[in-house]
Amino acid sequence: MDRTIIRPTWAEIDLDAITHNIKAMRQRLPKQTKIVAVVKANGYGHGSIEVAKRALESGATSLAVALLEEALVLRNAGIEAPILVMGWVPPEAASIAAKQNITLTFFQKDWLDQVSKLDLSTNLQLHLKLDTGMGRIGIRSSEEMREILYALNSKPSIYLTGVYTHFATADGQNLSYFHQQKTLFEKRLTELREYWSGEVAVHIGNSASAIRLPEGMCDFVRYGIAMYGLFPSPAVKEEDEISLKQAFSLHSRLAHVKQIDAGDAVSYGLTYRAEKKEWIGTIPIGYGDGWVRKLQGFSVLVDGKRMPIVGRICMDQTMIRLDKEYPVGTKVTLLGSQNESFISIDEAASYLDTINYEIPCLLNERIPRIYKG
Ligand SMILES: *Cc1c(COP(=O)(O)O)cnc(C)c1O
Repeated sequence: MDRTIIRPTWAEIDLDAITHNIKAMRQRLPKQTKIVAVVKANGYGHGSIEVAKRALESGATSLAVALLEEALVLRNAGIEAPILVMGWVPPEAASIAAKQNITLTFFQKDWLDQVSKLDLSTNLQLHLKLDTGMGRIGIRSSEEMREILYALNSKPSIYLTGVYTHFATADGQNLSYFHQQKTLFEKRLTELREYWSGEVAVHIGNSASAIRLPEGMCDFVRYGIAMYGLFPSPAVKEEDEISLKQAFSLHSRLAHVKQIDAGDAVSYGLTYRAEKKEWIGTIPIGYGDGWVRKLQGFSVLVDGKRMPIVGRICMDQTMIRLDKEYPVGTKVTLLGSQNESFISIDEAASYLDTINYEIPCLLNERIPRIYKG
């Protein structure tokens, strides 16, 4: 059933944009560096299954998510590509990962000890996470690393297949801390190779680092935000190193149109009053969808023109000031392009004083995702 028939509010996901963005990264990378498509948080709000499938068809060779649950969603959809879970997983859940051939991230010796007590029916693959300055998860010292690798040596059916780190400032103006982290990681890697002879995949880069330093990315790039066509930060965007296409757009249709008189109020708290006779349109989207109240005053597109959001945004409805009368059912574009006009996710993020990553994540499952391309 087409859910847009029930309520005409939908997000359109342009899968050809995903392909474009993967190819654009593929062109920058050396041949031996592979692309891991990061589809955590339901593919940054775009839909993890659809994005994962398209990413794998377009040149990505594996997938990464934050939670084991997210990996299981992909496996249940029949996706067989390698999947890495980048977050902490309760040790008791490791047998599920082993059974489903899902690679887990580890960085605690206690965790490893608990996992080794499980009755794993199949081999478990692990990537070791090093905290080189992000301060989130990962082991921080050589001693810790030595200890954990020593413990790993004695665990049958548990295999170390990768080692990685994550940068805190790869998207910043100043890259000195980034290089400091990279140097520390290289030092740790040299130490690791002194007492670990097995072959391990090495990966360090997210979108920002891969765009800026494609030659230095080792075996894999963990390609997230830029795969969705968004730049990791204004600083990276300004460098203009890669062509990206925004995959996400958000649309609705006018549910009601009326003319109000000068002095008439719109919405809760009467925060807006018409200055003269004005046309007001009502759109069926609100903060219950993640179209947050702070977007009051932002614009949407009708007939290719910007119309301001007036009055408080309600849970399910938003009012806009129109430049003239439009019929009920007229298309409204809240994010993305309409005719020659475009409202970028970056612009909405900047209006909300946040980063573009947060915008499609905020727009929740109440808004159906429709796939194009
Ligand atoms: C989310 C995440 C990424 C992807 O980062 P982008 O900036 O979206 O490319 C890569 N690595 C880790 C560990 C992550 O958590």
